[in-house]
Amino acid sequence: MKRSYVVSKFGGTSMGGRQEMERSAVISMERNSNMVVVSALSGTTDKLIQVAKLASRGLTEDCEKMVFSIKERHQALMNELPKNTRAIKILSNYFDELDLLVQNISLLKELTPKAHDHILSLGERMSSLLFSEVLRNKLQNQTVELLDARSMIKTDSNFGKATPLIEDIAKACKALNDKTVYVTQGFIGSDHDGNTTILGRGGSDYSAALFAEGMNATTLEIWTDVAGIATTDPRLCTSAKIIHEISYAEAGEMAQYGAKILHPATIAPAVRKSIPVFVGSTFEKDLPGTWIRETVENRPAVRAITKRAHQALLTICNPNMLNAYGFMGEIFGMFGKHRISVDCITTSEISIAVTVDNATLDNQKFITDLKGIGQVNVETGYSLISLIGNDLFSRSSLAKSIFNSVDEASIRMMSLGASSYNFNFLVKEEESTTCIQKLHKALIEGHK
Ligand code: ADP
Ligand code: ASP
Ligand code: MG
Repeated sequence: MKRSYVVSKFGGTSMGGRQEMERSAVISMERNSNMVVVSALSGTTDKLIQVAKLASRGLTEDCEKMVFSIKERHQALMNELPKNTRAIKILSNYFDELDLLVQNISLLKELTPKAHDHILSLGERMSSLLFSEVLRNKLQNQTVELLDARSMIKTDSNFGKATPLIEDIAKACKALNDKTVYVTQGFIGSDHDGNTTILGRGGSDYSAALFAEGMNATTLEIWTDVAGIATTDPRLCTSAKIIHEISYAEAGEMAQYGAKILHPATIAPAVRKSIPVFVGSTFEKDLPGTWIRETVENRPAVRAITKRAHQALLTICNPNMLNAYGFMGEIFGMFGKHRISVDCITTSEISIAVTVDNATLDNQKFITDLKGIGQVNVETGYSLISLIGNDLFSRSSLAKSIFNSVDEASIRMMSLGASSYNFNFLVKEEESTTCIQKLHKALIEGHK
């Protein structure tokens, strides 16, 4: 008989404290979750990043204070729970591990990518320990098992943003049974040598999707602090509305182009196994939320607007390439070599313009390598705005509406044509929010 599995992921705010954990536990019980994937307590990953940075400059009072506050918050939560000596001991071992890592990093004054991933993993390991206790105390008639995601989510050794090994994950998931409720960590995995790896910031959504794929789940649920995927980030536009049903293709584009609600890689595992994905709010659990499916009934021209902030535009120009070939190949090869993803591009005969995250500019080796191919011009301070929708090539008056709405903003670059699901353009950061509000009003709310 086919086993039916539900994988539920709870983000940082859903793990904010005792009350939030209680809410999340109730939801996972109501939804009959077989696997609960959790993020670190809200703000903990940011703090661990700070700790690691501070330690790499030598042990300071600031660093010790921050370590103390991390421990104190987790310990206070543990103290509120019914006493379990085993869990108390595990938490104290995690604290020792954190101290040891901080000591070693500060002694060497060096933060290796391996140590960075290891120290960050403690956030999810501590929160999942606490959450498994909360759930165990509620779910008396079922076995609750705390599972180390590092034994399941096998990855390569690309620390900081490791690539999961799908077949190995599927193999590991075969050992799971449908009688046990598993609680595990998002965001973390391990390579073949057993080193701890992470999947990149916001990676818990991706972990949950990988578990759902490995377990052939019937549903993947993402529980967060908003009532589903909205037509744009509700923090940018108060009239944003929740989308009740959206296709994989549209949701994938939204995630790729900056909608923080989903990690960009979340949709791919769901697509591979046709698993419907639900997105809902832990704080308003009975609202309808958003369902992401292969096909949907309503296919509007413009479904949503996203913003990807902190963008830089790289223009690579080589006049020798007039009527020559191989220029693009060389450039893309360089992006591939440095594992940098190309988001939005436009080309002319002798130059190519590419948007990248600002952080890419820290990679000096990459910039030097690019300069070996041609003259490189770097511009910063941009945001990439994307209109996500359906059949965007064939909507005749769409371009007119877009340009009318953003008339005062200067568009530095735009791209339409590679996918019928999106239309991207690059504007100055300071103009981006107004631009989104105007576009939302004209193209989604439907009035000028
Ligand atoms: P979690 O910690 O639960 O993973 P995140 O902070 O990563 O939560 O993602 C939820 C946030 O995503 C929301 O609070 C919201 O501000 C932001 N967001 C960005 N774009 C959208 C969108 N289109 N719809 C809903 N939320 C969005
Ligand atoms: N805790 C990790 C982060 O803050 C992963 C996640 O929350 O998805 O990036
Ligand atoms: Mg998130």
